[in-house]
Amino acid sequence: MDDIKILIVEDELLIATTLQRKLVKMGYSVVDIVSSGMKAIEVAIEKKPDLVLMDIVIKGDMNGIETASKLYDTTRIPVVFLTAYTDENTISKAEATGAYGYLIKPFQERELTTTIRMALKKHEETMKMEQLATTDSLTGIMNRRFFLQAIDKEIERTQRYGNRFSLIILDIDHFKKVNDTYGHSAGDEVIVSITQIVNKNLRKVDIFARYGGEEFIICLPETDYPNAMNVAERIRQNIEDNFIPYDDKKISCTVSIGVTNFHENGDTYDKIFQRADAALYLAKNQGRNQVVYQ
Ligand code: GH3
Ligand code: MG
Ligand code: MG
Ligand code: MG
Repeated sequence: MDDIKILIVEDELLIATTLQRKLVKMGYSVVDIVSSGMKAIEVAIEKKPDLVLMDIVIKGDMNGIETASKLYDTTRIPVVFLTAYTDENTISKAEATGAYGYLIKPFQERELTTTIRMALKKHEETMKMEQLATTDSLTGIMNRRFFLQAIDKEIERTQRYGNRFSLIILDIDHFKKVNDTYGHSAGDEVIVSITQIVNKNLRKVDIFARYGGEEFIICLPETDYPNAMNVAERIRQNIEDNFIPYDDKKISCTVSIGVTNFHENGDTYDKIFQRADAALYLAKNQGRNQVVYQ
């Protein structure tokens, strides 16, 4: 068995240490034992266990159910509940957290290992599905669907905290010609190469997605107009300067970029997108290979 790391969240030390001993005997490693929800989240972020075994009645302000919800939302680490509670209300609340199992104390060792194994397998599958649903398979960056979810959250945050953000739309120039001249798989390589160049110019917090065929979209949180223009211009220049080796040829291409930023007072995604798209349209019309702000 690979080294599977487990975090125990349990307020009764005797139960916790007994469980730890059992787990170690089964070949798992226990990264820590904690007794409150706050501590559980802190340790989970720091030690990245593969699974959390969570008691429901624990110390501190959050119970195990609240902790499990928060933990899964922030870390995506699977949780299995270990509890003496069997009433319908508790069970349905536990279910609603998206937990991967519910073991009622006292349980047999075999129940414990089976539940752990099933939880880990189910979680691996869920992560794969999530990855497929949110990622563009050619480039590995986000797809349009995921971008739309992420931008909604960003707009909400921006409105709530009075933040700013900028939006960039980027479209490869005369891309049809690349396909026609070098073939479709060369075109694919160009798309991948361009995403790599864009990525090098972005921060971790930026949201970068493939919006459609040869069109990309970027949300730059906490970035105002001059900074977004600088980023866009750097990307444009880097792409222009780049040559993509393909067979014994070198392919070069350029991009046109539309930039806008969030306007206070009732700006919506549709309006923001339309401004960036109009800017892109102008960039194309004015001769391509340029950045336009609207
Ligand atoms: P413009 O400068 O006006 O943007 O011209 P363009 O040729 O880039 O634009 P157009 O929309 O006419 O053509 C886009 C082309 O991109 C057509 C389509 O076949 C190609 N394309 C879209 N997705 C992919 C892909 O995943 N791989 C490849 N190789 N080509 C793609
Ligand atoms: Mg307890
Ligand atoms: Mg194009
Ligand atoms: Mg296009």
